[in-house]
Amino acid sequence: MRAMVLDQPKQPLQLRDVPKPKPDRGQLLVRVSTCAVCRTDLHIVDAELPDPKLPLILGHQIVGRVEEIGEGIKAQFKVGDRVGIPWLGWTDGECAYCRSGRENLCDNARFTGYTIDGGYAEFTIADARYCFHLPERYDDVEVAPLLCAGLIGYRSYRKTGDARRLGIYGFGNAARLIAQIALYEGRELFVFTRTGDKATQQAAKELGAVWAGGSDEMPPERLDAAIIFASVGALVPAALRALAEGGIVVCGGIHMSDIPSFPYADLWEERVITSVANLTRRDGDEFFEIAPRVPVRTQTETFPLEEANTALDRFRAGKLKRTAVLVVNAVANQ
Ligand SMILES: [Zn+2]
Ligand SMILES: [Zn+2]
Repeated sequence: MRAMVLDQPKQPLQLRDVPKPKPDRGQLLVRVSTCAVCRTDLHIVDAELPDPKLPLILGHQIVGRVEEIGEGIKAQFKVGDRVGIPWLGWTDGECAYCRSGRENLCDNARFTGYTIDGGYAEFTIADARYCFHLPERYDDVEVAPLLCAGLIGYRSYRKTGDARRLGIYGFGNAARLIAQIALYEGRELFVFTRTGDKATQQAAKELGAVWAGGSDEMPPERLDAAIIFASVGALVPAALRALAEGGIVVCGGIHMSDIPSFPYADLWEERVITSVANLTRRDGDEFFEIAPRVPVRTQTETFPLEEANTALDRFRAGKLKRTAVLVVNAVANQ
């Protein structure tokens, strides 16, 4: 099968013919239809995340059809079913985290397109227990970005509790998806972009934000919560300063530059800083239930599998206006 393979970080992916994998017990062989590109893919290629499997097939926002079913899988999936494969690929089910509903923190978790091969290929293998059925209203291209930007964004959003005034720093893929749910749920949205990025601020207002400005500005009202999707550590103290008492700053990314020091007074009065790691299957079930009701809409730009490097380069350079989705096999609508 054709695959785009990462031999070493900081090198372009190589188009290669590799053996088609075989499903073990509990696994599905999936014919990949589409795979959305995530900023995490860039962090892996750019050596900003430690110890990827090498050589590696990237990609953890995979949409495909079940081609073959390993032993031991009951009625959950049948051949031909459409499935979504997310970042969380496997957990041990036994550690203290798994047993307390926090499988996202599992000691032995494995991650799609990072520590196990992902979806920048014609076929991939996935543990059936971590795959999702996808809402029918979306086609294979538009649903792909929901599998990480949507899902992990949703987990970040849920960490903000019932915050009425919600700030979002960095208005990229995840932010745009989560903003739609926040507005649907009646939150007031305050969007922070790079200083002077009037076009993005305008886009945020068009979507329904009550205020949009630069990340160096203070919002007109104190926020109950802020989610930081940009990987810029300096935004943490900036967001803290924008919070009301008891507010929370949620860092939604897997990688962030160092956080500068700040006065304790900015944290005082029970303000909280937290991060979000990975996802649980429950996050996925909840998200795929609410997303089609909103409905959350994605904006995508497609690339053929062979042009994965172009998609990554354009992402790195900030030249993507929409979420890049690799189209691997011809897309049949649902
Ligand atoms: Zn575990
Ligand atoms: Zn991701």
